[in-house]
Amino acid sequence: MASERPFRAIPAVHELARDLGQLYPEAPENLLVMVARDVTEELRREISAGKRTHLDPQEVLNLARKRVEEKLAFSLRPVINATGVVVHTNLGRSLLPEEAVEALTEIAARYSNLEFDLQRGQRGSRYSHVEEILCELTGAEEALVVNNNAAAVLLTLNTLALGREVIVSRGELVEIGGSFRIPDVMVRSGAILREVGATNRTHLRDYEAAINENTALIMKVHKSNFAIVGFSKEVSGAELVLLGHEHGLPVVEDLGSGCFIDFSRYGLLKEPTVQEVVGAGLDVVTFSGDKLLGGPQAGLIVGRGEFIRRLKKNPLNRAVRIDKLTLAALEATLRLYRDLEQAVKRIPTLALITMPASQVKKKAQSLLRRLRKEKIPHLKARLVKTVSRVGGGALPLASPPSYAVALSVDGWSAARLEKALRASTPPVISRIEADKVYLDMRTVLPEEINLIVRLLKKIWGE
Ligand SMILES: *Cc1c(COP(=O)(O)O)cnc(C)c1O
Repeated sequence: MASERPFRAIPAVHELARDLGQLYPEAPENLLVMVARDVTEELRREISAGKRTHLDPQEVLNLARKRVEEKLAFSLRPVINATGVVVHTNLGRSLLPEEAVEALTEIAARYSNLEFDLQRGQRGSRYSHVEEILCELTGAEEALVVNNNAAAVLLTLNTLALGREVIVSRGELVEIGGSFRIPDVMVRSGAILREVGATNRTHLRDYEAAINENTALIMKVHKSNFAIVGFSKEVSGAELVLLGHEHGLPVVEDLGSGCFIDFSRYGLLKEPTVQEVVGAGLDVVTFSGDKLLGGPQAGLIVGRGEFIRRLKKNPLNRAVRIDKLTLAALEATLRLYRDLEQAVKRIPTLALITMPASQVKKKAQSLLRRLRKEKIPHLKARLVKTVSRVGGGALPLASPPSYAVALSVDGWSAARLEKALRASTPPVISRIEADKVYLDMRTVLPEEINLIVRLLKKIWGE
C-alpha cells in the first residue's frame, strides 16, 4: 500500500513552474508550466501505481530540470558516429567537405544569382550552376539535379515511360532502406514494369524477347546494397545500349550511389564510375549526391541532351527541385573532383572510406591513452580489431579492416553502457559486439576523441 508521504513531496504546479523560472529565466513560461504539470501528474501516477515509494523535493526538481533541458534542446543535432558505418543513412549519410559548408553558409545569408543570368540581366536557370561541371566530370551532354536520387528515378520514368513498359531484370528489382523499391516507384511514376529473366540470371535474349510496340525504355539498376553471387549472369549496360538503340529505345541506369573515383585503387571492390557508365553509352544515368559522392543530398541526372531536356520540361521537375543551399554545397563538392587526389583527401566520405587501418589504429590508441590517464573507475577499455562498413547502400561486400575501442563496465550490461553513451550530449552512437560496447574509430573524427573521454567521465558524474 502506498503511504501518504511521497505525495507530499509533489509541489503545486505553479510553485514548480516558478522554481524552474528562476533556473531558466530565458525559457517561455508556458513551456515551464507544461513541464511542471506533466512531471507532477506523472509522479502522482507512479506513486499511486506503487512504482515509487519514496520521493523528495530535490528529485522532483531534478526530473523537471531534465525535462526542461530536453525541450530546450534542438531536435536535430550532431552526434558522434562510432558505428564504423561511413555513409550511415540514419546518421546523416555524408559529412560535407569544408568547401561545401563555406559555400552554403555564404549563399544562405545573402542574395544570389540562383535563377538570374548575370550576363544577360534576365532570368536564368538554377541548374546552370552545376550542369557544366557535371558534364565536364562525367562526359555527359547535359545534366539536371533534383532533390534526391529517388526523385531522379521517378522523374526519369515519368518523363520517358508514362503509360508504357520499362524492361528491368528480376535480379535488379531492388529495395533501398526507407521503402524505396523499384517496382513501387515504377507504379507511382505511371510506367509499367516489365520484369525479365530470373533472380540470379538474366540474358540479353530475355530483354530482346520482351521488346514490343509499347516498350518505352530498358532500365538497369545497380545492385548497390546487395550482391548476387554463385550461378549468376547479368547483362552489361554496354550490351543493353546496343540492343536498345537497335530498337530505337533509350537505355537508362539507376546507379544508386554513383562515384567518380575507382575504389579498387584503395583496396576496395571496383564500383562502376559515372564516367564509365556514361562512356558505355547509357542515355540517362541517375545517382545520389550524398552516398559515395560525399556531397549534399541530391539526385544527379546526366545523359544525352534530347532526354535531359525532356526531363527538365516535365512539370514534376518543379515538385522535386533542388534548393539553393544544396546547390551551393553540391557545386563546391563537384569542384573538388577536378583533382581526384585532392578529392579523396578533402571529401570526408572518401577520406573515411579509404583511411588505412593503421591510421584508424592511431585514433583508437589515442583514445585508449587518454582513457587510461583518466582512470575512470570500473571502466575497462581495450583495443580490438574489427571491420567497418561503407553503408548507404554502397559497396555492400566491402569490409574495410578497422580498429575499435571495446568498452565494458563492471556490473553493467553492454546495453546499459550503450544507452548511457547515447544519452550523452552530444550522443555517442556505438555498436554492441561480444557483450562489449565497440567504438569503431574509423568514423570518429580526431577532434571528437577528447570529447568522448569527457562524456564517459560524465556518465559517472565526474
Ligand atoms: C540509394 C539508392 C536510391 C535512392 O537514392 P536517394 O538519394 O537516397 O533518394 C535509388 N536507387 C538506388 C539503386 C540506390 O542505391
